[in-house]
Amino acid sequence: MENIRENVEKILSELPEGIKLVGAAKTKTVGEILEAIDAGVEIIGENYIREAEKVIEQIKKTEFGINNDANKKICAVKWHFIGHLQKNKVKKAVKLFDMLETVDSFKIAGEIDKECRKIEKVMPVLLEVNSGREKQKFGIFPEDVENLVREISLFDNLKIMGIMTMGPWEEDAEVLRPYFKETKKIFEKIKSLNLNNVRMKYLSMGMSSSYRVALEEGANMIRVGSRIFGERNYQ
Ligand SMILES: *Cc1c(COP(=O)(O)O)cnc(C)c1O
Repeated sequence: MENIRENVEKILSELPEGIKLVGAAKTKTVGEILEAIDAGVEIIGENYIREAEKVIEQIKKTEFGINNDANKKICAVKWHFIGHLQKNKVKKAVKLFDMLETVDSFKIAGEIDKECRKIEKVMPVLLEVNSGREKQKFGIFPEDVENLVREISLFDNLKIMGIMTMGPWEEDAEVLRPYFKETKKIFEKIKSLNLNNVRMKYLSMGMSSSYRVALEEGANMIRVGSRIFGERNYQ
Protein backbone atom coordinates (compact mmCIF):
# COMPACT_ATOMS: atom_id res chain seq x y z
CA MET A 1 0.00 0.00 0.00
CA GLU A 2 1.27 3.37 -1.00
CA ASN A 3 1.29 5.91 1.79
CA ILE A 4 -0.17 8.84 -0.09
CA ARG A 5 -0.23 11.19 2.87
CA GLU A 6 3.42 10.57 3.66
CA ASN A 7 4.41 11.01 0.01
CA VAL A 8 2.56 14.30 -0.30
CA GLU A 9 3.94 15.67 2.95
CA LYS A 10 7.47 14.78 1.93
CA ILE A 11 7.19 16.47 -1.46
CA LEU A 12 5.52 19.58 -0.02
CA SER A 13 8.15 19.90 2.70
CA GLU A 14 10.87 19.93 0.06
CA LEU A 15 9.23 22.35 -2.37
CA PRO A 16 10.46 25.94 -2.39
CA GLU A 17 7.85 28.57 -1.63
CA GLY A 18 5.57 29.56 -4.48
CA ILE A 19 5.83 26.30 -6.39
CA LYS A 20 2.49 24.78 -7.40
CA LEU A 21 2.12 21.04 -7.04
CA VAL A 22 -0.32 19.33 -9.40
CA GLY A 23 -1.24 15.81 -8.30
CA ALA A 24 -1.46 13.85 -11.56
CA ALA A 25 -4.28 11.47 -10.70
CA LYS A 26 -5.03 9.50 -13.88
CA THR A 27 -6.37 6.00 -13.11
CA LYS A 28 -6.60 6.81 -9.39
CA THR A 29 -9.69 6.28 -7.27
CA VAL A 30 -11.76 8.93 -5.54
CA GLY A 31 -10.47 7.62 -2.21
CA GLU A 32 -6.86 8.00 -3.26
CA ILE A 33 -7.44 11.49 -4.61
CA LEU A 34 -9.26 12.55 -1.43
CA GLU A 35 -6.31 11.32 0.60
CA ALA A 36 -3.94 13.44 -1.46
CA ILE A 37 -6.19 16.49 -1.10
CA ASP A 38 -6.43 16.01 2.63
CA ALA A 39 -2.64 15.74 2.83
CA GLY A 40 -2.31 19.13 1.15
CA VAL A 41 -2.48 18.76 -2.64
CA GLU A 42 -4.40 21.82 -3.85
CA ILE A 43 -4.48 21.06 -7.58
CA ILE A 44 -5.48 17.76 -9.18
CA GLY A 45 -4.53 17.02 -12.79
CA GLU A 46 -6.64 14.70 -14.93
CA ASN A 47 -5.92 13.33 -18.42
CA TYR A 48 -9.25 11.94 -19.57
CA ILE A 49 -12.53 13.81 -19.67
CA ARG A 50 -14.68 10.82 -18.94
CA GLU A 51 -12.61 9.77 -15.94
CA ALA A 52 -12.46 13.36 -14.69
CA GLU A 53 -16.23 13.76 -14.95
CA LYS A 54 -16.83 10.82 -12.65
CA VAL A 55 -14.13 11.70 -10.17
CA ILE A 56 -14.96 15.40 -9.94
CA GLU A 57 -18.66 14.77 -9.54
CA GLN A 58 -18.07 12.30 -6.72
CA ILE A 59 -15.50 14.45 -4.98
CA LYS A 60 -17.65 17.57 -5.14
CA LYS A 61 -20.43 15.79 -3.32
CA THR A 62 -18.20 14.27 -0.68
CA GLU A 63 -18.69 15.81 2.69
CA PHE A 64 -16.94 14.80 5.83
CA GLY A 65 -19.65 15.38 8.39
CA ILE A 66 -18.54 18.14 10.70
CA ASN A 67 -14.88 17.97 9.72
CA ASN A 68 -14.78 21.47 8.34
CA ASP A 69 -11.11 21.43 7.57
CA ALA A 70 -11.41 18.49 5.18
CA ASN A 71 -14.48 20.04 3.57
CA LYS A 72 -12.71 23.33 3.04
CA LYS A 73 -9.85 21.59 1.25
CA ILE A 74 -12.24 19.76 -1.05
CA CYS A 75 -14.13 22.94 -1.91
CA ALA A 76 -10.90 24.78 -2.63
CA VAL A 77 -9.23 22.15 -4.80
CA LYS A 78 -8.50 23.21 -8.38
CA TRP A 79 -8.79 20.89 -11.38
CA HIS A 80 -6.31 21.03 -14.25
CA PHE A 81 -6.66 19.20 -17.52
CA ILE A 82 -3.28 17.74 -18.49
CA GLY A 83 -4.22 15.22 -21.20
CA HIS A 84 -4.61 15.71 -24.91
CA LEU A 85 -7.68 17.80 -25.59
CA GLN A 86 -9.92 16.76 -28.48
CA LYS A 87 -12.36 19.13 -30.10
CA ASN A 88 -15.43 17.07 -29.26
CA LYS A 89 -14.51 17.11 -25.54
CA VAL A 90 -13.98 20.84 -25.20
CA LYS A 91 -17.55 21.57 -24.18
CA LYS A 92 -17.24 19.28 -21.17
CA ALA A 93 -13.67 20.29 -20.41
CA VAL A 94 -14.49 23.97 -20.02
CA LYS A 95 -17.21 23.14 -17.52
CA LEU A 96 -15.13 20.70 -15.48
CA PHE A 97 -11.75 22.36 -15.24
CA ASP A 98 -10.18 25.45 -13.73
CA MET A 99 -7.23 25.37 -16.12
CA LEU A 100 -6.42 23.60 -19.38
CA GLU A 101 -2.67 22.98 -19.54
CA THR A 102 -2.44 21.47 -23.01
CA VAL A 103 -3.64 23.95 -25.61
CA ASP A 104 -1.59 23.31 -28.72
CA SER A 105 -3.43 24.72 -31.73
CA PHE A 106 -5.38 27.72 -32.91
CA LYS A 107 -8.29 25.44 -33.70
CA ILE A 108 -8.62 24.01 -30.21
CA ALA A 109 -8.20 27.48 -28.70
CA GLY A 110 -11.04 28.72 -30.92
CA GLU A 111 -13.25 25.90 -29.74
CA ILE A 112 -12.45 26.67 -26.09
CA ASP A 113 -13.25 30.33 -26.70
CA LYS A 114 -16.57 29.44 -28.31
CA GLU A 115 -17.70 27.06 -25.57
CA CYS A 116 -16.56 29.42 -22.81
CA ARG A 117 -18.48 32.30 -24.31
CA LYS A 118 -21.67 30.24 -24.04
CA ILE A 119 -21.20 29.78 -20.31
CA GLU A 120 -19.67 33.20 -19.71
CA LYS A 121 -16.36 31.89 -18.50
CA VAL A 122 -12.81 33.00 -19.13
CA MET A 123 -10.64 29.89 -19.15
CA PRO A 124 -7.04 30.11 -17.97
CA VAL A 125 -4.87 28.03 -20.29
CA LEU A 126 -1.26 26.99 -20.72
CA LEU A 127 0.21 26.32 -24.14
CA GLU A 128 1.83 22.93 -24.50
CA VAL A 129 5.26 23.10 -26.07
CA ASN A 130 6.73 20.04 -27.75
CA SER A 131 10.19 20.87 -26.49
CA GLY A 132 11.67 17.64 -27.86
CA ARG A 133 10.29 18.38 -31.34
CA GLU A 134 8.99 14.80 -31.42
CA LYS A 135 6.72 14.06 -34.34
CA GLN A 136 4.59 11.55 -32.44
CA LYS A 137 3.97 13.93 -29.54
CA PHE A 138 1.43 16.71 -29.13
CA GLY A 139 2.39 20.29 -28.53
CA ILE A 140 3.68 23.32 -30.39
CA PHE A 141 7.20 23.29 -31.75
CA PRO A 142 9.36 25.87 -29.96
CA GLU A 143 9.79 28.04 -33.06
CA ASP A 144 6.01 28.31 -33.52
CA VAL A 145 5.04 29.32 -29.99
CA GLU A 146 5.33 33.08 -30.35
CA ASN A 147 3.08 33.32 -33.40
CA LEU A 148 0.48 31.08 -31.84
CA VAL A 149 0.49 33.09 -28.61
CA ARG A 150 -0.15 36.25 -30.62
CA GLU A 151 -3.07 34.63 -32.45
CA ILE A 152 -4.64 32.95 -29.44
CA SER A 153 -4.31 36.06 -27.29
CA LEU A 154 -7.00 37.68 -29.43
CA PHE A 155 -9.68 35.37 -28.04
CA ASP A 156 -11.68 37.01 -25.25
CA ASN A 157 -12.82 33.89 -23.43
CA LEU A 158 -9.51 32.30 -22.70
CA LYS A 159 -6.45 33.69 -21.06
CA ILE A 160 -2.94 32.46 -21.65
CA MET A 161 -1.30 32.03 -18.26
CA GLY A 162 1.90 30.26 -19.22
CA ILE A 163 3.52 27.27 -20.79
CA MET A 164 3.62 23.54 -20.16
CA THR A 165 6.00 20.92 -21.50
CA MET A 166 6.55 17.21 -21.10
CA GLY A 167 9.91 16.75 -22.80
CA PRO A 168 10.96 13.46 -24.37
CA TRP A 169 10.14 10.25 -22.52
CA GLU A 170 13.30 9.64 -20.57
CA GLU A 171 14.13 8.05 -17.22
CA ASP A 172 17.27 10.08 -16.69
CA ALA A 173 16.20 13.57 -15.68
CA GLU A 174 19.55 15.07 -16.69
CA VAL A 175 18.75 14.26 -20.31
CA LEU A 176 15.67 16.47 -19.98
CA ARG A 177 17.57 19.48 -18.64
CA PRO A 178 18.25 21.11 -22.04
CA TYR A 179 14.57 20.80 -22.99
CA PHE A 180 13.51 22.43 -19.74
CA LYS A 181 16.10 25.14 -20.31
CA GLU A 182 14.80 25.87 -23.80
CA THR A 183 11.21 25.96 -22.58
CA LYS A 184 12.13 28.43 -19.85
CA LYS A 185 13.73 30.63 -22.50
CA ILE A 186 10.54 30.60 -24.56
CA PHE A 187 8.58 31.42 -21.41
CA GLU A 188 10.78 34.44 -20.67
CA LYS A 189 10.71 35.60 -24.28
CA ILE A 190 6.92 35.57 -24.44
CA LYS A 191 6.73 37.25 -21.06
CA SER A 192 8.99 40.05 -22.27
CA LEU A 193 6.59 40.80 -25.15
CA ASN A 194 3.96 42.04 -22.65
CA LEU A 195 1.12 41.05 -24.92
CA ASN A 196 -2.45 42.03 -24.22
CA ASN A 197 -4.48 39.29 -22.56
CA VAL A 198 -1.36 37.21 -21.88
CA ARG A 199 -0.05 36.78 -18.37
CA MET A 200 2.98 34.52 -18.28
CA LYS A 201 2.70 33.31 -14.72
CA TYR A 202 3.08 29.53 -14.80
CA LEU A 203 5.79 27.32 -16.22
CA SER A 204 4.55 23.76 -15.80
CA MET A 205 7.30 21.21 -16.23
CA GLY A 206 8.69 18.22 -14.40
CA MET A 207 7.12 14.93 -13.31
CA SER A 208 7.98 12.37 -10.60
CA SER A 209 11.42 11.52 -11.91
CA SER A 210 12.31 14.95 -13.27
CA TYR A 211 10.75 17.67 -11.15
CA ARG A 212 13.92 18.44 -9.23
CA VAL A 213 15.78 19.21 -12.45
CA ALA A 214 12.74 21.12 -13.76
CA LEU A 215 12.72 23.30 -10.64
CA GLU A 216 16.40 24.05 -11.09
CA GLU A 217 15.58 25.17 -14.62
CA GLY A 218 12.81 27.51 -13.53
CA ALA A 219 9.56 25.51 -13.34
CA ASN A 220 7.05 26.94 -10.89
CA MET A 221 4.41 24.25 -11.42
CA ILE A 222 5.20 20.54 -11.33
CA ARG A 223 2.96 17.59 -12.15
CA VAL A 224 3.60 14.59 -9.96
CA GLY A 225 1.77 11.27 -10.25
CA SER A 226 3.57 8.10 -9.27
CA ARG A 227 5.63 9.69 -6.51
CA ILE A 228 2.36 10.58 -4.79
CA PHE A 229 0.05 7.75 -5.71
CA GLY A 230 2.47 4.91 -6.48
CA GLU A 231 3.21 3.27 -9.80
CA ARG A 232 0.42 2.97 -12.35
CA ASN A 233 -0.37 -0.23 -14.18
CA TYR A 234 -0.72 1.64 -17.42
CA GLN A 235 0.04 5.07 -18.93
C1 LIG B 1 0.93 11.17 -15.86
C2 LIG B 1 1.39 12.55 -16.09
C3 LIG B 1 2.26 13.19 -15.21
C4 LIG B 1 2.83 12.52 -13.96
O1 LIG B 1 3.67 11.47 -14.28
P1 LIG B 1 4.52 10.71 -13.16
O2 LIG B 1 5.72 10.24 -13.86
O3 LIG B 1 3.64 9.61 -12.67
O4 LIG B 1 4.80 11.70 -12.09
C5 LIG B 1 2.62 14.49 -15.48
N1 LIG B 1 2.18 15.14 -16.57
C6 LIG B 1 1.34 14.56 -17.44
C7 LIG B 1 0.89 15.33 -18.62
C8 LIG B 1 0.93 13.25 -17.25
O5 LIG B 1 0.11 12.68 -18.13
